[in-house]
Amino acid sequence: SPIIAAFAARTPGSAAAYAEARTHFPGGVTHDTRFVRPHPIAVARAAGPRKWDVDGHEYVDYAGGHGALILGHAHPQVMAAVAEQLANGTHYGANHLLENRWAALIKELMPNAEMIRFTNSGTEATLMALRVARAATGRPKLLRLRGHFHGWHDHMAFGVTNHFDGTPTPGILENLAGNVLLVDPNDEAGLAAVMAAHGSEIAAAILEPTGSTFGQVPLRDSFVHALRAETAKHGIVLVFDEVVTGFRVAKGGAQEALGITPDLTTLAKILAGGLPGGAVVGRRDLLELLDPERAAARGVEKIPHQGTYNANPVSAVAGIVTLEILRDADAIARSHAYAADLRAAMNQALVEMGVPWAVYGTYGGVHIFTNWKRLPISPTGFDPLGLGYADLKVPRGMQTVTKLLLALRTHGVDFSPWPGGPVSAAHGPAELSDTVAAFRAAVSDLRA
Ligand code: PLP
Repeated sequence: SPIIAAFAARTPGSAAAYAEARTHFPGGVTHDTRFVRPHPIAVARAAGPRKWDVDGHEYVDYAGGHGALILGHAHPQVMAAVAEQLANGTHYGANHLLENRWAALIKELMPNAEMIRFTNSGTEATLMALRVARAATGRPKLLRLRGHFHGWHDHMAFGVTNHFDGTPTPGILENLAGNVLLVDPNDEAGLAAVMAAHGSEIAAAILEPTGSTFGQVPLRDSFVHALRAETAKHGIVLVFDEVVTGFRVAKGGAQEALGITPDLTTLAKILAGGLPGGAVVGRRDLLELLDPERAAARGVEKIPHQGTYNANPVSAVAGIVTLEILRDADAIARSHAYAADLRAAMNQALVEMGVPWAVYGTYGGVHIFTNWKRLPISPTGFDPLGLGYADLKVPRGMQTVTKLLLALRTHGVDFSPWPGGPVSAAHGPAELSDTVAAFRAAVSDLRA
């Protein structure tokens, strides 16, 4: 394909880096979604809304640190705080004042945060939230929504990406997978049926509250309200996985935007300002199961939880500075405005080019829907709430997406692979016009 050839000719340094990476890493990558043929770009540095590859090419960035960087790359205040902390040590193996400040900020911003336990990642946060729910209820089963991603641990690593059908991932015990019930997003009847059949066996229901992958398959607000009502009725712990939506959809995450209070919330990404970190936050009576004295007073065994790097001071300062900026400035609103302008401008380009695709999203999300074979659309007549997973899964659609991503890279824009991207508050008019110009050029390449 000329698109692949043009990309490869421009990126010999990335190709060489990938050739070596393949000798070190299975597939040549350290995160599944970074895999792409012929090779990923190898990035040398990043600043604000942009990054540069090892061949010296500049990109407008919509990888956004997999969603961690709402302030853009290398934000000066975050970097200064990290540098200052590095001089004071990276790990005390002890309590410190920064973890208190970080926790106080989370409580100030996140409506349901009565108590907090820090982890190192979103995966660890959902693992702990589900463990707390099982311990608190004494029930075995979990309920999740098809296609929603909650990290890669054994209780949740299926029913997403290649496993829309809920087939257990290789290496996961059948009896773990067998305790997880899947419901289709927005299927209120299906939800009611599962609740009627299994409500008293379900410990937790977990979801990405604005829909899977930053709202690529959006959830109706009414469905999330129904889930809150059903879980309350059956004594099920409702877990909002706000690893993506926390501090992005609103200061208080999707729970603030939707006006729904979950029992537990999982956080990561923006939480730690671009460094590793996560947390499970929520109802005091649930998280007190981690407290040796409170658990003993309730006559139950404490839930164990360790983690060498939990609340390490470097992640803590990056998180503190990021959350303070989000609290005190208009960064979230600016990121939403940029995303809305970008969606409109890309749709305008599609109309002008007569291409039957659509760009959609809510809050700071941008999703490019190219699968016209499955769902004839026009940018103006497209209803994302009508989307189901089948619409995203046609092979021809996937091939189109890969070519689109490579062509966009050739023209200086790096989108996330679903395809779409989280935007940042650092994106501005120059990024918007560069992105739309690259999008037009990439679409033209695809048509050639
Ligand atoms: N939950 C959601 C909604 C996510 O998007 C992710 C990561 O992308 C995770 C959990 C897992 O977080 P981590 O990659 O920090 O383990």
